[in-house]
Amino acid sequence: MSNEKYSAAENYHRLLKNNKQFVSDKLEEDPAFFEKLAQGQSPDFLWVGCSDSRVPANQITGTDSGEIFVHRNVANLVDINDMNFLSVLHYSVDVLKVRHIIVCGHYGCGGVLAAMGRTHIGMVNHWISRIKDVYLKYEGELSAIQDEAKRGDRLVELNVTEQVRNLAKIPMVQRAWKNRELSIHGWVYGLSDGLLKDLDVVHEDLDGIEEIYRYENL
Ligand SMILES: [Zn+2]
Repeated sequence: MSNEKYSAAENYHRLLKNNKQFVSDKLEEDPAFFEKLAQGQSPDFLWVGCSDSRVPANQITGTDSGEIFVHRNVANLVDINDMNFLSVLHYSVDVLKVRHIIVCGHYGCGGVLAAMGRTHIGMVNHWISRIKDVYLKYEGELSAIQDEAKRGDRLVELNVTEQVRNLAKIPMVQRAWKNRELSIHGWVYGLSDGLLKDLDVVHEDLDGIEEIYRYENL
């Protein structure tokens, strides 16, 4: 949302001014807040969310700095060809040893809705093309939903479910399961009510995925 109360320059400077306020508020709560954060991080959660500006991980979960390791991209995809994502996954799972991975989509996701359509916008179409694969996988269920918005909402949920499954197929995740507990969850955020819905599609071991994806020599 652009802020019409401010000129473009004022709007930009507002961020730096807000930062000073953020620092003084935090120090008032806890004078050692930044000293403690500077010593390191040990977040329990990895968040894989959409880049959409309306879905800020910390704000909607009431968490603070240091609590969530975050990766965001258009339509919260788990892509094994994405070096950025794989690096985030490796660091959070193997080094930080997070105990939960949360894939969080959101209703009204522009990336998911665009994947349902046939308009070519540009580069982003390449990125979201794999959501068309998700659509095809569940075409029977989706095509039975007459209302387009409702069909989009269901595809948002199915896309999250598939990304959770994609995570479970990654050897790095399966290796972690050999040694410790690690749960992968799928959530959807409602832009219109601010509520998170747990899709209850948890993977915490190899049980939920087909045998062909289970590596034996990790
Ligand atoms: Zn989105």
